Amino acid sequence: MLDGRDMINVKKLNKSFGDLHVLKDVDITVKESDVVCLIGASGSGKSTLLRCLNFLEIKDNGQIIIEGEEINADSHDVNKVRQKIGMVFQHFNLFPHKNVIENIIEAPVHVKGVSREQAIKEAKELLAKVGLADKEKVYPSKLSGGQKQRVAIARALAMKPDIMLFDEPTSALDPELVGEVLATMNELAEEGMTMVVVTHEMGFAREVADWVVYMHGGRIVEVGHPEEFFENPTEERTREFLSNTF
Ligand code: ADP
Ligand code: MG
Repeated sequence: MLDGRDMINVKKLNKSFGDLHVLKDVDITVKESDVVCLIGASGSGKSTLLRCLNFLEIKDNGQIIIEGEEINADSHDVNKVRQKIGMVFQHFNLFPHKNVIENIIEAPVHVKGVSREQAIKEAKELLAKVGLADKEKVYPSKLSGGQKQRVAIARALAMKPDIMLFDEPTSALDPELVGEVLATMNELAEEGMTMVVVTHEMGFAREVADWVVYMHGGRIVEVGHPEEFFENPTEERTREFLSNTF
């Protein structure tokens, strides 16, 4: 989208684990309703970047500005900030001892203080939206991977986030289940959700992304609109990566 307000600004972000310098002067801006697909080889720092955006990892230095406000873990309540930022992981992380609807209402009721009745009403709407209206009472172990991931998306949406982060949401799925999850994400994108998606699904990046960001060795190497990015990347490293990927 062209003129949306800035939802995320990252400036000169650095993060190390011990001696391992994982994020190196990362700059990135995500505007409202943008879908940003983050691609790159394993170990390039994609997950660490997402985790820093959600304050699951704490940066060493640089700025993370969420909806115009610079957030620092020592001066802000990151739990509060996290409520605005939903996250979906490769491995669903559903509560195995809770059924689908209980998984979805857990955070709205216990973190946000929404009434159980209201949370259930909203959870049912979300389940309908992800195509699982009939799975309310089912336990995660009885669901396919694609269904679990759609529940995980509904659960994140139940907090009414302004931003959704996805870390390889389809990488753990059998190939025939990837499509249903991508379709749910595509729908969310069309509704105008601001999304940052780490993915190896180049078809999704091509079709849905507003921006494709290529990371290598902890740096952002190239950012482009999908057509330019895939047809005519400017950086040699991007070309190499793409030629190895296809
Ligand atoms: P990607 O998601 O692109 O595969 P990651 O962000 O997961 O990359 O990892 C980048 C590098 O940081 C890797 O070398 C990884 O081993 C290392 N790393 C990630 N998390 C930790 C951690 N908690 N402690 C130590 N090293 C880590
Ligand atoms: Mg990763």
